[in-house]
Order: sequence, then structure tokens, then C-alpha cells
Amino acid sequence: MSLIVTGSIGIDTIHAPTGSAVEVPGGSCAYFATAAAIQAPVRIVAAVGGDWPEAHRALLTSVPGLCTLGLEHRPASRTFAWGGRYLPDMNARETLFTELGVLGEPGPRVPDAYRDSRFVFLANSHPTEQARLLDHFPDRAIAIVDTMDLWINIAHGELLGLLRRVDGVVLNDSEATQLTECRNAVSAGRAILGMGPRFAIIKKGEHGCLLIHADGVAALPAFPMEAERVIDPTGAGDSFAGGLMGHLARVGRTDLAAIREGLVRGTVTASFTIESFSLERLRQVRPAEFETRLTEFRRMAEVA
Ligand code: AMP
Repeated sequence: MSLIVTGSIGIDTIHAPTGSAVEVPGGSCAYFATAAAIQAPVRIVAAVGGDWPEAHRALLTSVPGLCTLGLEHRPASRTFAWGGRYLPDMNARETLFTELGVLGEPGPRVPDAYRDSRFVFLANSHPTEQARLLDHFPDRAIAIVDTMDLWINIAHGELLGLLRRVDGVVLNDSEATQLTECRNAVSAGRAILGMGPRFAIIKKGEHGCLLIHADGVAALPAFPMEAERVIDPTGAGDSFAGGLMGHLARVGRTDLAAIREGLVRGTVTASFTIESFSLERLRQVRPAEFETRLTEFRRMAEVA
């Protein structure tokens, strides 16, 4: 079942208590696609500028199952660039800079061969651009959108318009509060359902995630990890979504039970991402190792 992601490909600079990584591969689309590819083939639609390093290209194109037909190269433009700094406990971060580059330009062209995509993930990008891209997938079985504080602030109306057209939304707890003005995550989720989607997934960092679905509610812990193993949480949210959608596309389902299993797999996927800076650890995950950690997580999350 064809899975597609549209979003940012970025050059990231990260400062964390564990060290710094300067101008490394990042972006919502890159994390999502690398994560999803562990379970299912994935197509990407994104743009990069003339400054996109060859090493970043080599890395992304070497991910098995990741199709880059929809990757647009714009020699006269600049690649999206983002910098962030983590606070000592690694749970909170501040954005140091956001250089939109190609994300501030008209969006990338969607190859005709991608129009039959059924599982659509609109990773973080401008909501107007996310809406335009959605139009290209008339046969979709499900569309999920991710968003963040920047877009809630500067493109609120456009975001509300987009929410009326998608099946699900993924966002973190502070963003859910910002969007709905509800402090309680369950209330925020219900308020989001009132805006259009049939489910909302609210991520709570090391405290796991909450699913508010028209057919039920589910809560899941994060994969428990010692502090020494957490090197860089960047991309955890996008990888989580990649693990979720990779599962849905693999089994060809969109019902509540499939989404619940997708959340388990998304959680396990994200646990690999945070073990290194950038995509280093994530891109090395092998299916057998993924299954082993999945079994370990199921044991830990089991309730009597
Ligand atoms: P996450 O840690 O899951 O929130 O995702 C971090 C990734 O999102 C980084 O690799 C950034 O390059 C990318 N990113 C940060 N801000 C934005 C934005 N405003 N739009 C799109 N992508 C972004």
C-alpha cells in the first residue's frame, strides 16, 4: 500500500548536554521517511536547495525502500535550515533559528506516478502547502497531518482549514494546548476532534502519547530508557509518526486497532532515533532488531 510523506528536508544544528551536531541531515520528511522505511516502502515529496550537501543526499538515497523521485533540487535556492538547543533535562528545547529557504517558496511538484498514494502523511510544513499537496492524492485511504508552534502562530486560519480535510492530527501536548486553549490533553484532543479530524494523537515526550479517537481513547508509555542512552531527541516525533504510518501502510488498514498497534510501533521507532544525533542510529535499524525491541516494549507495557 503506497505511503507518501511531504515535509521538510533540513540542515540541522543541534546543541544538547550530550554535545553538538552542526549542519547535519534533518527535517520532518527525512526523519519520517527513514523511520517508515523500516516497515514499508515510502515516497517523499520535498525540495532542497543548491547548498544541500552531497553527503546528505548520499545518506537519504541509500535508505532501502525510500523513493526519491519526488525530491526536487533547486540550485538557486537555499535548503531549509533549523537550529535547536536542549535544556539540561532533554525534555524541553528552544529553537535557535529557522531559515525557511525552499519552505518559503512554492512547493515541490508531485510526480504523476505518486498520485495513487493511499497513505498520506503531511509532515511539518506551512499549512497552505500541506493543503495544496493533499489535493494531489484523490485516492487516499487516510491523511494525517503534523504541525507545530510556528504554524499555529503564523498560519492559524490556514491550519484550521486543513484540519477540516484530514483524518488525523499528530502534535505534542504544548502545541495541543496552544491550538485549543485546553490545558488537559484529553480535553485538547476532544476539542481537536471538534475541528474536523476523527482522531488526534498527542505526544508527551518521555511520558508517552495519548490517542483520542472517535471510537475510543488509548494511552501508551514511551519506551523507558536510561538517561545515558538519550543522545538527541530531535526527530523523535517525526520518527514516531513514520513508525505509525509505516505500519498502517504495511497492513493496509486505518481502523482504531491498526492505529493502536501503529502507536506501539511508532514508539519503538522513536526510541532508536534518540540514541544518536541526526539520522545515524535510525538508518541502521534492521528489521530483526526492530522486532526484538518491539517484543521488549510489549512486555514492559503489558497491563494485567
Ligand atoms: P521533531 O523533533 O520531531 O519536532 O522534528 C525536528 C525536525 O523538524 C528537525 O529535523 C527540523 O529540521 C524540522 N523542523 C523544525 N522546525 C520546522 C518547521 N517549522 N517546519 C518544518 N520542519 C521543521
